[in-house]
Amino acid sequence: MKSAFNPTIRRAFRTAARTLGLWALVAVAGAGCSDEVPEPARPASEEAAEPDPRAGLSADAKLETVAMLEDDMAAVRHPSDGGGRAWRVESEGLHVAGSRERVDIVFEAGPLGVAEDGAVFLQPSPFWEWDPPQARFPDAPGFSEVRDPPEGVELELDDRVGGLLIAWVRGRALEAGETFRFVYGAGPAGARIDRFAEERTPIYVSVDGDGDGVRAFIEHSPRMDIVGGPPRQLSLILPTTAIPGQSVRLTVAALDIHRSLSPVESGSIVILDPPAGLELIPEIELGGAFGSSRSIEVVVREPGIYRLTGEGRGELAGLMAASNPLMARKGLPQVAWGDLHGHSQLSDGTGTPLQYFAYARNVAGLSVAALTDHDHWGIKALDGQPAFWSEIRDAVGQFNEPGRFVTLLGYEWTSWLHGHRHVLYFSDQGEVYSSLDPRYETPAALWDALRGQSALTFAHHSAGGPVSTNWRYAPDPVLEPLTEIVSVHGSSEAPDSPLPIYDPVPGNYVRDALNAGYPLGFLGSGDTHDGHPGIREPGASGGLAGIFTRALTREAVLEALRARQVYATNGPRIYLRVELDGQPMGSITEFHPDEAGESRLRVEVLAPEPIVAVDLIRSGIRVRIPVDSELLWTLDRRIPVLQPGEYHYVRVVTEGEGAAWSSPIFAR
Ligand SMILES: [Zn+2]
Ligand SMILES: [Zn+2]
Repeated sequence: MKSAFNPTIRRAFRTAARTLGLWALVAVAGAGCSDEVPEPARPASEEAAEPDPRAGLSADAKLETVAMLEDDMAAVRHPSDGGGRAWRVESEGLHVAGSRERVDIVFEAGPLGVAEDGAVFLQPSPFWEWDPPQARFPDAPGFSEVRDPPEGVELELDDRVGGLLIAWVRGRALEAGETFRFVYGAGPAGARIDRFAEERTPIYVSVDGDGDGVRAFIEHSPRMDIVGGPPRQLSLILPTTAIPGQSVRLTVAALDIHRSLSPVESGSIVILDPPAGLELIPEIELGGAFGSSRSIEVVVREPGIYRLTGEGRGELAGLMAASNPLMARKGLPQVAWGDLHGHSQLSDGTGTPLQYFAYARNVAGLSVAALTDHDHWGIKALDGQPAFWSEIRDAVGQFNEPGRFVTLLGYEWTSWLHGHRHVLYFSDQGEVYSSLDPRYETPAALWDALRGQSALTFAHHSAGGPVSTNWRYAPDPVLEPLTEIVSVHGSSEAPDSPLPIYDPVPGNYVRDALNAGYPLGFLGSGDTHDGHPGIREPGASGGLAGIFTRALTREAVLEALRARQVYATNGPRIYLRVELDGQPMGSITEFHPDEAGESRLRVEVLAPEPIVAVDLIRSGIRVRIPVDSELLWTLDRRIPVLQPGEYHYVRVVTEGEGAAWSSPIFAR
C-alpha cells in the first residue's frame, strides 16, 4: 500500500497495534470526533514524524490509529466469524433516554457454531454514555450475566476490554442453533442506556467463531428505540431576517434535559405580549396529533426587531423560553441558517439519518443541513457498508425541499494523517472516497477525485483537537473556498479566540492559514454527535453557518458558499453583515481608495445576548472595539485601504463567550 510515511515505521506501528488485537479498535472508538476531550494520543516518534518529500503529514498525525484501522481491515475472518443471530427479549414500557434498564439478548449460534475457546461479544454502543457492561460487581451499574447455556458448555465472562463483554466458550463448542442469553444490567443498579433519544440504536453482537482472536459482527445486531425524557425546556426559534410582508416560520419544541424531543401528550405554548408587527396564533398546542414540535406561520407586518417569549401550559406548565431576535427591514440581505457537519449512529453519533434531518428542520428550524458520517470511524465503517450510504442518500432525498429546507449528501473524510475534511455533494449522487483508500489518502488525491463534480470540501478542527489540518496542501481554489472555523471542538481561529480548541498545534490556526495567503471564507458547524444539529449544549461551543443565499435551493446555496457569502457562529444566532466599500464579506477584489487613501467599512450586528466586543482583524493584526452590552450594534468608519494580498474580517463576542466570525474580504 502506498503511504505518506516511512514503511519501516509503519510496520513497527502495525506490530504494536497487533498486540492490542482487534479489540483496540473498540477501546479507542469514540475518541475521534466526540464532544468530550479525547485522551491525548501518544506522540509519534521523531522518526515517524519525518515529513514526506511532498507535503508531509499533519504535525499531530495519528499514525498508530491508522495502523490499527488498517490491521483491522486486513485481518482474515474465518467463515464462522460473525455467524449466528441475536434478538432482544422485549420488555414492557418505553425506553427513556438516560434511564437504568435491564436488557435481555438471546444469541443463537450460526451453521458453523462457535469453536471451543471461541467467543461471543456483547457491546452496547460506545456512543454516548451507556454503562459499560461488567461482570465483577453485582451491585454496580452495568453488571451483566450470561444465562441458560446449553449442557456441557461453560461461558466464561471477561470484561477486561472496556465497553465489551466477552463470553468465552469453554468445555465444548457451541453447536449450530444452540442458544444462550446475555443479561445486560442484571443487578439492582441496571445499566444506563443512551442519554439521547434515538431510534433503532444497535446493541452490537460479534463472534469469533474459530477462536483465533479475530471477530466479526453478526449481520443484524439487536436494536432498541429510546425516547426522550420529560419536558424540561421549551425552544422557540425565529428566522434571523425577514422583509416586511413576508411570511416566516416560528419553530417551537418541547425538549428534555439533554435537548432530545420530549414526548408530550398535551400541552401548549402561549406567546406572551405578542408584538403588534407580527401576525401569529397566540397559543400553540403541542402533543397528540401535533407532536412535540411545530412550525407555525408568522406574517411580518412591520419593520422592526422582534423577540418572542413563550410560556408553557398543561404538561409544559412552569417552562418559559425566549426566541432569538428577528430583524425585519426592507432590502435586508436574508440569512439562511445551516449546519453542514454532523454524525448519526451510522458512525459515532446518535440517532438515524432520518431523525437527524427531522431534528434539524423541525426542532432547530434550520434551512440547510448535511449529515457527514465518518468514512471509517465507528463500529462499522461507511466505506465498507454500501447500505449505510444508501440509507443516508435516501434520507437526504426525502428531506430535500427546495424553497424550504435544503439537504446535502456528504461524509467526513476522516484522515488521521492530514486532518479531517468533510465532503459535500450538491446533487443526489456522490461517492465515498475513503481516506484509508491509498487512492484517496491525501487532500490532493481527494480533490482530484472530486474535480468536475458539484462538490465542496472543508477542513475542520484545523488547529488541533482530534487531529490538525496539514495546511501544506493549499486548499483547492475551486473545491475548498471555505474552512470550518468553529464546531463542538472549539474555535480554530487563533489563540485569542473565545472557546478555543483543545490540543492546538501552534502556527496551525485559521489565521495562520490566511496569513499564508489562502483565501478562505468561514463557516461554523455543530459536528454534533448527539442527534441535535443546530442546537448547542448550553455553555459549550457549537457551530452554525449563516448563509447569504438568494434562494433555498442546492444551486443557490452552492453559489453562496463558493462566493464565501457566509459567516460562522459558535452556536448563537447572531446576525452579522460586513461591507468594505460596498463589497460584501467573502469578496476578493481590488480596492480603490478615496482621496485620503481610505475605504469605508460598515458592520451591522444583532445578537441574542449582549455584545461585549467587536474585533477587526486585518492581516493578522487585531483591533478591539469594546461594546457596552448592546444587542444591536453598527459601525461606519474609514480605514486605510487594503493593499493587495491583505485580508480583513470581523469577529463579534457576546456575553457567555458566544462569537461570530465574518468571512474575510480579500484585496487582490
Ligand atoms: Zn472530525
Ligand atoms: Zn465530525
